[in-house]
Amino acid sequence: MQTTAEIAEVRRHVRTARAQGARIGCVPTMGALHAGHLSLVERCRSESDYVCVTIFVNPTQFAPHEDLAKYPRPMEDDLRKCRAAGVDLVFIPDVPSLYPDGYQTWVSVEEVTQPLEGAMRPEHFRGVTTVVTKLFNIVQPDVACFGAKDYQQQATIRRMVRDLDLPVEIVVCPTVREPDGLALSSRNVYLSPEERQSALSLSASLQLAADRLATGATDLRGLEQEMIDLMHAQPGVQVQYTVLADPDSLETLTQLQPRMVGLIAAMVGKTRLIDNREFNLPQPTASPSPR
Ligand code: AMP
Repeated sequence: MQTTAEIAEVRRHVRTARAQGARIGCVPTMGALHAGHLSLVERCRSESDYVCVTIFVNPTQFAPHEDLAKYPRPMEDDLRKCRAAGVDLVFIPDVPSLYPDGYQTWVSVEEVTQPLEGAMRPEHFRGVTTVVTKLFNIVQPDVACFGAKDYQQQATIRRMVRDLDLPVEIVVCPTVREPDGLALSSRNVYLSPEERQSALSLSASLQLAADRLATGATDLRGLEQEMIDLMHAQPGVQVQYTVLADPDSLETLTQLQPRMVGLIAAMVGKTRLIDNREFNLPQPTASPSPR
């Protein structure tokens, strides 16, 4: 496994691999790698011949009051996990090499970034789409893997790749969870044992929604309220949003449709967590045509 902080060296390694016929895969991360990230690496290995993991805690996607400074950076551990997972190249740029003095160029995606995370974190997606574009320009992957865990992020990146004709295939991988339902997140390390218990109410409320929808619920606002009530019944949980939305536009739905997604953001103590789940309603079976 090669490890480098240098853009030119990434280009050189990738050029060599491509010259040997390799299909190039990329998994962008902010490090503090867990089994969710490693599921992306595994998928990427099955989709490509040469996997580059990028580890960069991107300052432009954090607001000043957010956890940039204390974001976990267990670099030795991350490199060990990458090596064990069969990664070919780890790119660990520093901030000045991606954002040199005088930096002033941004990539913004419009409608899909406006609600939910975009409303709570106004600069966030501009930072994400800019850094992902830069990483794509540096690594030039044929395929890149993202997690459904960050649902609006993957929807935004799919939109960006389509709108800008970026020559990369985006693969979205399912959310990896603890056995009790908690979605894996680098931020889970901030949770006390009591907060971790309360945090289970996020996935539990998505399960509640799945159950209600499967048994014929139609009142979406009523269902969102039930989900909120379930979470607020736990100590330390403060819901920021809970919506049933369209999986592509992320617009809040006013009525049932065959494909929907439930999206949640909540503070659990001082830690901000997000979770989501897709719902596919059974299609009515076609009635036999009259004779
Ligand atoms: P991050 O390091 O938080 O920026 O995440 C890097 C990538 O890993 C993103 O595409 C995330 O959606 C993905 N990811 C984070 N947590 C999970 C998880 N629990 N399951 C699957 N993918 C995840």
